[in-house]
Amino acid sequence: MDKLSFNEGLLQFLRQSPTPFHAVQTMQSNLQAAGFELLNEEDTWHLESGKRYIVQRNGSSIIAFTLGQGDPAESGFRMTGAHTDSPCLKLKPNAVMPVNPQTGSALQFAVEVYGGALLAPWFDRDLSLAGRVEYRLADGSLGSALLDWQRPLATVPSLAIHLDREANSNRTINAQKDMPPVLALESSAADFDFNGWLVEALQTQQGITHVAGVLAHELYFYDTQAPAMVGLHNDFIASARLDNLLSCYVGQQSLLADQQANADGFNLLVCNDHEEVGSNSACGAQGPFLRSVLARISARLSSGDAAECVERMIRRSLFLSIDNAHGLHPNFADKHDGNHGPLLNQGPVIKVNANQRYATNSRTTALFRSLCEQAEVPVQTFVVRSDMGCGSTIGPITASGLGVETIDIGVPTYGMHSIRELAGSDDAWYLARVVQRFYQS
Ligand code: ZN
Repeated sequence: MDKLSFNEGLLQFLRQSPTPFHAVQTMQSNLQAAGFELLNEEDTWHLESGKRYIVQRNGSSIIAFTLGQGDPAESGFRMTGAHTDSPCLKLKPNAVMPVNPQTGSALQFAVEVYGGALLAPWFDRDLSLAGRVEYRLADGSLGSALLDWQRPLATVPSLAIHLDREANSNRTINAQKDMPPVLALESSAADFDFNGWLVEALQTQQGITHVAGVLAHELYFYDTQAPAMVGLHNDFIASARLDNLLSCYVGQQSLLADQQANADGFNLLVCNDHEEVGSNSACGAQGPFLRSVLARISARLSSGDAAECVERMIRRSLFLSIDNAHGLHPNFADKHDGNHGPLLNQGPVIKVNANQRYATNSRTTALFRSLCEQAEVPVQTFVVRSDMGCGSTIGPITASGLGVETIDIGVPTYGMHSIRELAGSDDAWYLARVVQRFYQS
């Protein structure tokens, strides 16, 4: 794995993953191609030492793990975690907006803002739509399929500056009124057959015929501009969803690289949905997904008291929570603490917060720093300004739910939660080398 091919793979992964459902589908097929066996949560698991497995929940969260030899209660798991979701515009259930008599020909879809999106960059983009659709077939059975239109379908046009002279000095954005994308100019937008349009897409995109009706959908708008290397010397990676698909990819590639190195440790990667909305769901980091998988592994591979074995296993484990950090923006350097502003392309960032918004402590910092030394990778530290609030991530949630020792790390980025974020082209690669080292430790 060299840096160039790593970054090309990252760009491809971002392209293939416009929604959490697609990200999990992409990871599942990548891992299955490398010999990971798919488990269903509903089934009895027959786990074998030395083998590798994946399991997903809701189609939007995934856990991949490898089993070493012996009792995991004695060795614990080396775990990494990231999240599959990113802030965006999500279609409302009744998607077609009532016609405004003044603009009767404009077909618009109603949207909710998912997560803490930076809304201004969503204007004047060529947007497409992707996600999951539930349907009923003519024989009465229910089905579910992923759709991705892949081509520009919609746009949110800006208001001309002539009609808002304060646009550059005093602009506010009303999510309900200003954000509905425009899709078409129909003679009668009110008559647009939304469900018929989805039925047609199920047939043309997935070859699903005899659909009697669409019952529900979870569809998200996304920017069709492809991820790209940017800069005089390709210093940057520009893309939507770098937060946090970049980290999912780092975890996936590190786990796969470890397998190629023929290590046979107890390693695990968890990528949760719903981090951007608080993680509080059945498949989110605050839900029971990870603990449930760990308990089932322990029940199969440990021989002692089940409840005690799983706790011993967790206490011998370490969890690297990977999520992007705020890089020091050259135009806004005063937004950072002068001594703790991470620079792009200067290596992964250890995120520290006295108030436990990050789960990092001095012990886990020391372990991570020594891994960076072994991988010959530079490392930096982020602490928010003392007069500003601090973000958070799955690290503290997983640490408090599981009781596992945790460190919060990630690569520095600009424009977090924009529709197009920017990372350094060295940092994801640096971090992957460290995580690979961790999995082999
Ligand atoms: Zn994030």
